[in-house]
Amino acid sequence: MRVLIIEDEPELARHITRALTRHGHCASAQRDGALGLQAALDDPPDLIVLDLNLPSLDGLAVLQRLREAQNPARVIILTARGSVEDRVKGLKAGADDYLPKPFAMDELAARIDALGRRVGAPVADGLLKVADLQMNVSQRRVTRAGVPVALSPRELDVLQVLMQEPGRVFSRTELCERVWQRDHEYDTRTVEIFITRLRKKVDANGGEPLIHTLRSVGYSIRAAD
Ligand code: CA
Repeated sequence: MRVLIIEDEPELARHITRALTRHGHCASAQRDGALGLQAALDDPPDLIVLDLNLPSLDGLAVLQRLREAQNPARVIILTARGSVEDRVKGLKAGADDYLPKPFAMDELAARIDALGRRVGAPVADGLLKVADLQMNVSQRRVTRAGVPVALSPRELDVLQVLMQEPGRVFSRTELCERVWQRDHEYDTRTVEIFITRLRKKVDANGGEPLIHTLRSVGYSIRAAD
């Protein structure tokens, strides 16, 4: 994959670049937020490793502008160890995953591999439908009542899992495993944030709510009975 690292600590940036190159990725680094954003907009990479605390433009602002521009790159944010607030802010702003600092390079490489994989089995005609919501799986496009809905790559993955089995209730843990491909039981908050993000984009424009929560059980997508 083509990976852009936006990280202002030169030693860490070099270390990540070398490690990802060793893992077979084409990695490059930018050392400040504005330059990193420009590089990502000029030539969107497959994935961005984004530090939050950056000179000139902080990581959250970079992320917001990328998502406003509907940049297709998947984004892993690097957060200070134990900073739940940073993690929640990053996920709400449109990150696909996060990694607390300090981290092992193998862990970062594993997360990147997981983000590179698509969820679920291929769908016969590539079109998923629930009421007036449609997903073209191969083109990664979603519309609601014919109007395009812009989703981040991980939001698309979560929605795809739900839409492949309308009416089925997925627990938070199961969604974590299906989408992030790791045992995420300790961090079901991430799933809640993605569901909130999806609701804002899929259900918020006056249509019938399709994403349903079963308290303390999980989530499903279905049309009204
Ligand atoms: Ca930093």
